[in-house]
Amino acid sequence: MKKIVNETTLVTTGRRKEWTHGVVNPPIYRASTCLFDTYEDLRSGVKDPSAKKLFYGRKGTPTHWALAEAITELEGGKGTMLYPSGVAAVTGAILALVKAGDHILITDSAYEPTRAFANGFLKNMGVETTYYPPMIGENITSLIRENTTVIVTESPGSLTFEVQDLPTICATAQKHGAYVITDNTWATPLFLNPLEMGADISVHACTKYIGGHSDIMLGSATANERTFLKLQRTAFQLGQTVSPDDASLALRGLRTLSVRLKQHEENALKIAAWLDSHPEIETVLHPAFPSCPGHDLWQRDFSGSTGLFSIVLKRGSYDDTAAMVDHMKLFKMGFSWGGYESLILPSDPTSARTAEKWQSSGPVLRLHIGLEDAEDLIADLSAGLDRYKQHLAA
Ligand SMILES: *Cc1c(COP(=O)(O)O)cnc(C)c1O
Repeated sequence: MKKIVNETTLVTTGRRKEWTHGVVNPPIYRASTCLFDTYEDLRSGVKDPSAKKLFYGRKGTPTHWALAEAITELEGGKGTMLYPSGVAAVTGAILALVKAGDHILITDSAYEPTRAFANGFLKNMGVETTYYPPMIGENITSLIRENTTVIVTESPGSLTFEVQDLPTICATAQKHGAYVITDNTWATPLFLNPLEMGADISVHACTKYIGGHSDIMLGSATANERTFLKLQRTAFQLGQTVSPDDASLALRGLRTLSVRLKQHEENALKIAAWLDSHPEIETVLHPAFPSCPGHDLWQRDFSGSTGLFSIVLKRGSYDDTAAMVDHMKLFKMGFSWGGYESLILPSDPTSARTAEKWQSSGPVLRLHIGLEDAEDLIADLSAGLDRYKQHLAA
């Protein structure tokens, strides 16, 4: 597999001396008002408020610029805008590229709040959405209309992990003059480079692996040459800002992303392989396993896998999963993922599927594999699956 990001870049990017003044990390600039010495300075600031010169807090400070510049370099884009959450980054990217009367395509496997935004806000604003099966590939052509302006991809998909044919979807979009936005949260900039494959905007919930410690909410959207000004203008018009503390924590997280991901990846592969041969498990939905739809595309396009995947149980109902998940020692229940800790979440995809009906033998559990010892995690899952089996037998 080809390596996308060099670790040296991860350590050095965004570290400009004029922002750090010689310390390793950029200081946390708390700013609303920034002061101008002369009328001339003020006027040049008004002319280009995004020129990486202090202008007004809402337009960012060196703390924000360092993070944005780092993500831009890792994603290979023209520029990055920061948002107060991953959801705000997804919605900010879509809003930058649509207008009333447009039609957009969203993968059926999209993160549920992305769907909620399309079905609520976008619909009210006169933008129509069609959901497409994530494995559609070149057949996406058949769904493109005269007024289709954006295709939203998320690969692998939330909860069910289908890997999409991103290069084909991007080539098709380009042929029809549509933009592609991709949610790259799972792969991080280290394992997939959507812009190189032809996507226009790559979005991250930095809340997840980039922050990496379950203590910030943050999003980013990195745009290519032809979409960056639209993205920036929309973010400014919406008044999107991020706290400098959170930007600083995200940048700190980013510096260790490669070592953390190596461990998440190794642990997850070990645990997924163990689960794959467990008698209570029907399927392991992990892109690195042949049982995952799009596994071959993952092999072709990605340079690694991370710690998030799902398992489908052979039998039982979601109510039954309580017997397993209520008594786990290490796998705790909670939303989000990407921190150092392991998580387990019963996650029924049924209500978030409209293009295709979701069907499975038993309940779906989403696992985030943290940085604990893999053998300890396996012991926890093993005991949990024993409880599940006993419960079903009772
Ligand atoms: C969590 C997540 C988001 C949203 O991020 P928040 O920071 O929680 O708003 C977006 N996309 C994907 C794929 C996610 O997993």
